[in-house]
Amino acid sequence: MTLPIVTLKPGKEQSLNRFHPWIFSGAIKFISQELEEGELVRVVSARQDFLAIGHYQIGSIAVRVVSFEDVEINAAFWEKKLSEALNLRRALGLPGSEHTNVFRLIHGEGDGMPGLIVDFYNGTAVYQAHSVGMYHIRHELATLLKKLMGDLLVAVYDKSDKTLPFKADIQSENGYLLGASEPCIVKEYGLAYQVDWVEGQKTGFFIDQRENRKLVEQFSKGRDVLNMFCYSGGFSFFAMQGGANLVHSVDASAKAIELTRQNVALNFKDDPRHEAFVADAFDFMRDMKNRYDLIVLDPPAFAKHRGALRQALQAYKRINAKAFEQIRPGGILFTFSCSQVVSKDQFREAVFSGAAITGRKVRILHQLHQPADHPVNIYHPEGEYLKGLVLYVD
Ligand code: SAH
Repeated sequence: MTLPIVTLKPGKEQSLNRFHPWIFSGAIKFISQELEEGELVRVVSARQDFLAIGHYQIGSIAVRVVSFEDVEINAAFWEKKLSEALNLRRALGLPGSEHTNVFRLIHGEGDGMPGLIVDFYNGTAVYQAHSVGMYHIRHELATLLKKLMGDLLVAVYDKSDKTLPFKADIQSENGYLLGASEPCIVKEYGLAYQVDWVEGQKTGFFIDQRENRKLVEQFSKGRDVLNMFCYSGGFSFFAMQGGANLVHSVDASAKAIELTRQNVALNFKDDPRHEAFVADAFDFMRDMKNRYDLIVLDPPAFAKHRGALRQALQAYKRINAKAFEQIRPGGILFTFSCSQVVSKDQFREAVFSGAAITGRKVRILHQLHQPADHPVNIYHPEGEYLKGLVLYVD
């Protein structure tokens, strides 16, 4: 198959020589023909040397690279990619694990498949295309996943309606690509969650906090815990599992609080240690006084794009300052940022500024990140989006 050719400006091949998978529109000199969004293109340097093959898209990232080798992009090509992704999860002991049956199967650039997220929920794979190219091949990839996973995979649900670029103007409707399934109960380190990929946020669940939730368990014994921005309550019942004295879960969304209550009940029925509140974080934290000695702050991405960076850093500073001000002496703060545009250093600095306002003595115990089923492609450092700190406050 001959692909349309995208020729770069002189010198713009450098990032591709270092295997960075994005080509910005400003790097392009010309395109051989009119392109449809999502089409595969062949990228060459100004000297016409082959560089990569990728999916074309209108927008600042014009091409997302799927291959740095000059190969045919066919079913065998995609099958190899999927099987490499699956092998990595097998190496982590995830598919078929006794205690954990929810994990990320495909993590975009981290799995050499920019523009695609696939999460696995106890037999159902939730397919989320962030690029038109990955959306176009959804049926093909669903069939290949079934071929590779066999009985482990019951259904594939496409949930791309909110993640496709709006410029593409694709009228996408969510629905099953293969099989069918009902919202189900998944297990993470033996604890249960009700997951609803149809109605829930993201693909239904924040899988990326699994290891950090487990770490909260270790710090919880005898503590009074606040789980701020709790969504489906994961940090709360890991804290309960760890022997917390009391656990308060807070989220601005009434649906999230309902989900948290259900999930706590699944694991700790009628346990009086837990209470959940629908409240805005800043309101709740304004006067929580010295009620807690373990606080988890896991806000939504305060900055979804570069333009919002300054404001986001201010918000991280303010909210962490509220926690430092009021946490009891000897308290533990788990604080996170999932904004891709906020770097690890910027986040740490924002937390540092929050601490400095209060003058508390603060020590870093752990530096946290996303789990291994959300791998970071070493040539694409932007993929390291989840950052966290565990802090000891004297
Ligand atoms: N910690 C969760 C994931 C948090 S996602 C887990 O482990 O699964 C972020 C959550 O913050 C969402 O549930 C969202 O409803 C909530 N949220 C957003 N803005 C908020 C605000 N101003 N105050 C309280 N909660 C908020």
